[in-house]
Amino acid sequence: MLASPGHCGEPARYRTMWRRLLPVGLVSLGVLFWTPVLETATAEPPRVRLITTGGTISNRPGDRLSPDELVALVPDLDELAEVETEEFANIASSAVALDQWLRLARRLNAVFRDDGDLAGIVVTSGTDTLEELAYFLHLTVRAARPVVVVGAMRRPDTLGYDGAANLRQAFRVAGHAGSRGRGTLVVFNGDINSARDVTKTHATHLQTFESPGYGILGTAARDRIIYYRRPEQRHTAGTEFNVGRITRLPRVDVVMSYQGASGNLIRAAVDLGADGLVIAGAGAGAVSAGQREAVSYALEQGVSVVMTTRTGSGRIAPRGPRTNQTNDSPAADTRRRGVSGEDLAPVKARVLLMLALTESSEHDEIQRMFSEY
Ligand code: GLU
Repeated sequence: MLASPGHCGEPARYRTMWRRLLPVGLVSLGVLFWTPVLETATAEPPRVRLITTGGTISNRPGDRLSPDELVALVPDLDELAEVETEEFANIASSAVALDQWLRLARRLNAVFRDDGDLAGIVVTSGTDTLEELAYFLHLTVRAARPVVVVGAMRRPDTLGYDGAANLRQAFRVAGHAGSRGRGTLVVFNGDINSARDVTKTHATHLQTFESPGYGILGTAARDRIIYYRRPEQRHTAGTEFNVGRITRLPRVDVVMSYQGASGNLIRAAVDLGADGLVIAGAGAGAVSAGQREAVSYALEQGVSVVMTTRTGSGRIAPRGPRTNQTNDSPAADTRRRGVSGEDLAPVKARVLLMLALTESSEHDEIQRMFSEY
C-alpha cells in the first residue's frame, strides 16, 4: 500500500526504496510486538515455596486452613507462580515461641541452600506480632532471594477476607527477580514494606502495616511490581548471625517508661534471669527516677540495656564515652551507659539484642551491631 505506484506521487527511486525497506520493517515490527507475547506464553512461572505458620489468614473457626486450602483460594495462581507448600505450624502469632523462630530460620536457610532454582519463599503469619518474626528472618536468613511475610486481618469465613488477595501479591513479589537483595519483605494490600521498618499501626483496620517515617519499599501494582528504594542496613545475605550455631536465644525483656514508673519491673526482670533489657523510653529515651536507679542496677549485674523510644519513630543517638568535660544530667548518664537502639522500635531492638547477645556482651560491640543492622 505504501509503495503503490503514484499513491502519494512519490518519485520512482523512493518507490524502489519502500519496496526494499517494507519487508525489513514488517519483520522488525513483528519481532518487536511478538517477542513479549511469545515470552509470556512460553516462560515458566517462577517456583515459590509457601511455608505456613498460621494466623488469621488460615483461621477458619473450628478447622484451620491447610497450606493447600490456602493456595486454592488464590485465583489465576498457575499463571503467577508454581507453588509448593509446607506447613510449619498453624497457630496464632502470639503463640509462636523462640525455639520456633530458630527452627523456622534454619528451615528457610536449608530450603534456599538445597533448592538453587527456587525464586523465593512466602511465609504466612498471624498479624499481631508478625513484625517480630519478619525482622528475625531479615537478620538470619542468609540468602539474597526474597522471603515475603504475609497474613490477613479478616478470617476466611468473614466478608471481605483479605487473605487471598494478600497471598496473591506475596507470590508475585516472591517470584519477582527485582525483590532480591532487599531483605525480608512484608506484603499487605499491595504495599511492600521492609521487615526492619514495618509495624502494625492499627488494631483492626485492613491498612495496618506501615513503615512510619520511611514508607514503603515498593508496590505490587496491577500491571507490575515496582520498587522505589532498598534498605541500607545489613540484613539476610549480609548478616553475621548464624542460626545454625545458636541453640537458644537469650532472654530479653522490654520495659516501658511512663510517669511515676517504679524500677520494680526492671529489677524483677534482672533478678528472674534476663540477659538483656530494652527500655521503651519517653521521647529520646527518658526514664523515671525509679527506673534510672533500676537501670544502673541492671548494668551492675552485667545485663545489657538498650535504650529506645516509645514514640513510634525517631532515633536515639549513641553517646560517646564519658570525659572530664562531660556534664551529664543523671538521665543522660544512664543513657550513656546503655546501648543506643538507634531508630529501631522497642520490639525490633529486642530481636536484634537477642541475636547480638549470642555473639557478644560487650557494650561497644553491641552498639556496633545496632548501628549496622
Ligand atoms: N491475629 C492473630 C495473630 O496475630 C491470629 C489469631 C489466630 O490465628 O488464632 O496471630
